[in-house]
Amino acid sequence: MRSLVAWLGFAIIGASFVWLQLLPERPPTRSLTVAPRISDGLGTVIIDPGHGGQDSGTIRAGLLEKDLALDVARRLDRILQAKGIPTLLTRDGDNYVSLAGRAATANREENALLVSIHFDDAKPTATGVETYYAPRRITTAPMIASWVPFLQHPEEQDNFDSQSFAGFVQDSLVAGTHAVNRGTRAEPFYVIANVRHPAVLVEGGFLTNKDDAAKLTTEQYREQLASAVADGVTKFRALMRERQRTVAAQGPRS
Ligand SMILES: [Zn+2]
Repeated sequence: MRSLVAWLGFAIIGASFVWLQLLPERPPTRSLTVAPRISDGLGTVIIDPGHGGQDSGTIRAGLLEKDLALDVARRLDRILQAKGIPTLLTRDGDNYVSLAGRAATANREENALLVSIHFDDAKPTATGVETYYAPRRITTAPMIASWVPFLQHPEEQDNFDSQSFAGFVQDSLVAGTHAVNRGTRAEPFYVIANVRHPAVLVEGGFLTNKDDAAKLTTEQYREQLASAVADGVTKFRALMRERQRTVAAQGPRS
């Protein structure tokens, strides 16, 4: 009897270990209207709507940051797909995804870009749009390292790509929305600092500002915002394509 109990204990421990291994971080949502995965060799645009589920983000004036972020992310997704650009949403519903889960989704992709969508809160006079990039980011790790955590030695490197990406997105945001230009800023926010791709975090307005909040309640403005971000993404991808061509034309250096 005692050995039966012991075996049962082992079985339960084994089963729960297997269960923990299998337990999914909510799977990323690929858009249903799937464009060709590799349309132009520049890879996927990962769209990360901030917050979700029990994490509402900022709540002001009846607006929830998580809802606005998802709405704008879905619009951005549709606009990019229409341009034939492959996309991937880190969440496509009102569910909680950890920051680590979001970064892991991004790091499973090759040649990707990440755009995280947020809205801000501050004193009532603060208004406008800003785009963040991480001052440094982890280097490209070989695929195996993402499966075997103890092999991971994330090294950091300067993040000029993300800085340049942020510049394109910010310029397009200001041109497309006429919102106050708060510029690009370097901050090591987790989701942009822990991906191995050029990554930016957009703060698309202040829910604590009367005018920003009023604009954000309209679909038209949210569409404008999404389309401005899409413009920035498209321009940065064009630059990347140009760079690829230059590298290809130069050929391997001797
Ligand atoms: Zn946020």
